Amino acid sequence: MAEVDKTRGDVDVPGDWAYASAPESRDIVHIRDRYGYFVGGKWLEPSETYETIAPRDEEPLAAVGQGTAAEVRRAVAAAREAYADGWSSLPGSERAKYLFRIARLLQERSREFAVLESLNGGKPIKESRDVDLPLAAAHFFYYAGWADKLEYAFPNRHPRPVGVAGQIIPWNFPLLMLAWKVAPALACGNTVVLKPAETTPLTALLFCEVLRQAELPPGVVNIVTGDGSTGAALVESEDVDKIAFTGSTEVGKEIQRRLAGTGKKLTLELGGKAANIVFDDCALDQAVEGIVNGIYFNQGHVCCAGSRLFVQESIYEPLVAKLERRLSTLRVGDPLDKNTDVGAINSAAQLERIEELVASGVEEGAEIYQPPCVLPEKGYWFAPTVFTNVAQSYRIAQEEIFGPVLSVLTFRTPEEALEKANNTPYGLSAGVWTEKGSRILWMAQRLRAGVVWANTFNRFDPTSPFGGYKESGFGREGGLHGLEPYLRFDE
Ligand code: NDP
Repeated sequence: MAEVDKTRGDVDVPGDWAYASAPESRDIVHIRDRYGYFVGGKWLEPSETYETIAPRDEEPLAAVGQGTAAEVRRAVAAAREAYADGWSSLPGSERAKYLFRIARLLQERSREFAVLESLNGGKPIKESRDVDLPLAAAHFFYYAGWADKLEYAFPNRHPRPVGVAGQIIPWNFPLLMLAWKVAPALACGNTVVLKPAETTPLTALLFCEVLRQAELPPGVVNIVTGDGSTGAALVESEDVDKIAFTGSTEVGKEIQRRLAGTGKKLTLELGGKAANIVFDDCALDQAVEGIVNGIYFNQGHVCCAGSRLFVQESIYEPLVAKLERRLSTLRVGDPLDKNTDVGAINSAAQLERIEELVASGVEEGAEIYQPPCVLPEKGYWFAPTVFTNVAQSYRIAQEEIFGPVLSVLTFRTPEEALEKANNTPYGLSAGVWTEKGSRILWMAQRLRAGVVWANTFNRFDPTSPFGGYKESGFGREGGLHGLEPYLRFDE
């Protein structure tokens, strides 16, 4: 004991425990100055381009094609040719080989993809490295496994591919959303034209290199970049048999209107305003971690984010105190720093939307808390935010903010929690925190949400179907259910 005391006396104890910066090197990824479209296995020179930037500092990264209707038509024609020219009739076991190759290549090149995802999208590197990339590879592995077992998955229904799938994805999980869409489509024998989001095209373009390495036959996957007008051209393309869309409810409704009566298949994965419900018998510290993960993960740019927190009245004060204390330890900053918890907001437009909704919350009478944090001067940033004193009618409790903003509401009984949680036009996900299994089951049966997490939040797995009720869309992605939208059945 005496020895220890003596040693302690000699050591200089640092007074400042701030994390030293730990930036991931971006040298691993080579970004070209200019990208075209990946059509029929070749790079097609675009007629127009726009600049894609890094949201952390607005640094221009590359010139990227702005797809016109004619360019979309070329991509669809290439997909049709590849479909007719062998891909649709290839045995499932052969298709599986390509999917397994893609999965393994994604694993091999995961660091490169993670750096690029964080650079172009703004999400913390620890998330792209530990969540986006492993899950993207897992989706390809999982659907590779189904490719030669479709007859067993759907016995006596004679599953056949649908044809050419047009896929439109958002900017919050660029590579992961690509994997969610491309893997089941290919496993079922379809070919694909994919349009990445305008602000985050780079990992999809890097993925084209993986397709070449995997020696996927030309035209099976085609990628056309551009803005909403490119997406609209894909939706309107006559030779597309199915549209899979993930994005805002507004655009989803527009697409549904356009496709009405065409006979094309459609799946929509749209917005959400998830309820995260905390009962007084839960493990409080664990719940606080789950709440933080539920809303500040990926800066809250998550369709299933737990953006409405319902707390049982008896634990309201201790929970809010713990939550605010935890918020003050979140590190906001450079997405490429391995210590960063909350990265950059994806775009100027999204930042503006968050700011507008947060201002409406203050104006309507909610109480705002933001931990002290120094935000970088350049780029797009928003501090983690908690609103208390929120009424159900406030816009911050009704509308999808898609940012690091949490609204806290209270309840007394399970019935009241349920009533309030279901009081939303959306129905994508929900969370329940309690030690009672029976209560979890009671709540899960009654919550109108596609996914209900119990004592956890934002957990994803390729084997588990994901999708919404009401204005959160229809159709399921992931799991066995995720195959059906890409198949026709002789019944
Ligand atoms: P959008 O719905 O506009 O974007 C999703 C995808 O659709 C993008 O690739 C987009 O292209 C494309 N697109 C846009 N307009 C059309 C169209 N008319 N026809 C076909 N495709 C189209 O979402 P935003 O990026 O504008 O985000 C707005 C809000 O939507 C967010 O604040 C958030 O609330 C919600 N959102 C929800 C998501 C979810 O996962 N549920 C994901 C993204 C956003 P482009 O990128 O060029 O606009």
